[in-house]
Amino acid sequence: MATVPTVHWHRLADGRVQCDVCPRACRLHEGQRGFCFVRQREGDQIVLTTYGRSSGFCVDPIEKKPLNHFLPGSPVLSFGTAGCNLGCRFCQNWDISKSREIDTLAAAAGPEQLAAAALRLGCRSIAFTYNDPVIFMEYAMDVADACRAAGIKTVAVSAGYMNPAPREEFYRHIDAANIDLKAFSDKFYEKITFARLDAVLSTLEYLRGTDVWLEITTLLIPGHNDGDDELRRQCDWLLEHLGTDVPLHFSAFHPDFKMRDIPRTPPETLRRARRIALDAGLRFVYTGNVHDPDGQTTRCPGCDAPVIVRDWYDLGAYELTDDGRCTRCGHRLPGVFDGPPGGWGRRRLPVVVS
Ligand code: SF4
Repeated sequence: MATVPTVHWHRLADGRVQCDVCPRACRLHEGQRGFCFVRQREGDQIVLTTYGRSSGFCVDPIEKKPLNHFLPGSPVLSFGTAGCNLGCRFCQNWDISKSREIDTLAAAAGPEQLAAAALRLGCRSIAFTYNDPVIFMEYAMDVADACRAAGIKTVAVSAGYMNPAPREEFYRHIDAANIDLKAFSDKFYEKITFARLDAVLSTLEYLRGTDVWLEITTLLIPGHNDGDDELRRQCDWLLEHLGTDVPLHFSAFHPDFKMRDIPRTPPETLRRARRIALDAGLRFVYTGNVHDPDGQTTRCPGCDAPVIVRDWYDLGAYELTDDGRCTRCGHRLPGVFDGPPGGWGRRRLPVVVS
């Protein structure tokens, strides 16, 4: 099955049909595809054309999503489809997100098949990643339901660019999210991602009020979103609207897609951003895509002991009880902790599911 009906759309007086999944509000004539390419007007309604189709599967460390407070050390079965509802000029997965080759998507896999594969591979969760699950929400929700029935959790890695009604429906099925906050300026969002910052901030506030475990990532692009003032405003907003405990990851950019003229992010920039966030009052701030044990270790807010030591995706010393309390002072860390840490390490294992 590849094409399924969807519900978040409405007819316009001029005969077009508007997709209501994301703020892009694509208005489509018969046969036309939306900006994301995978949603299309067909037979006077909007359909999803990539249900049950994937661009490939891989078992990753959960820290790669990145999630540092969600079943640490465990393997996660990652997959994506094709297309995206943002147009980031720096996209680090552009071969998938910009794919127009729906027919060559590598693998077909139904929800039950995916949940069974996660169990067989020893994964504790499945992640919708590589491209944004917002655009294939019907498939992702069915996979999430099959996973819940099998005791597997699900993770959405998303830019958070979604309208309130579909967002509420989608996140009822999801256990954890890493939302990409791509910058803290309207100009950056408009010019470099072709999206809007306010819609993403609305998703962050919405998730704060749900049971979905939330972490945030900002990819720092030299000269574009890494200024002290912008970082301070971002951290102040996060603190005021989400509190001290939402983990924030600053990760390193590599030149890609339409921004190949920008250099890699220097590790020093990541450390500077982390210092600004800690000074602002956020308690769990991490650096990513570099070796930086200090910037990747979780410290106990109660006694400052290092409770999860990390180097990139490798876990070192682990000083939490099975339910996430510091073994030294008993302080409970925010997050999802259930049993001893996993031992997956930094491996990436491509797998065939279907
Ligand atoms: S989900 Fe796709 S079709 Fe729908 S509004 Fe967003 S970009 Fe357009």
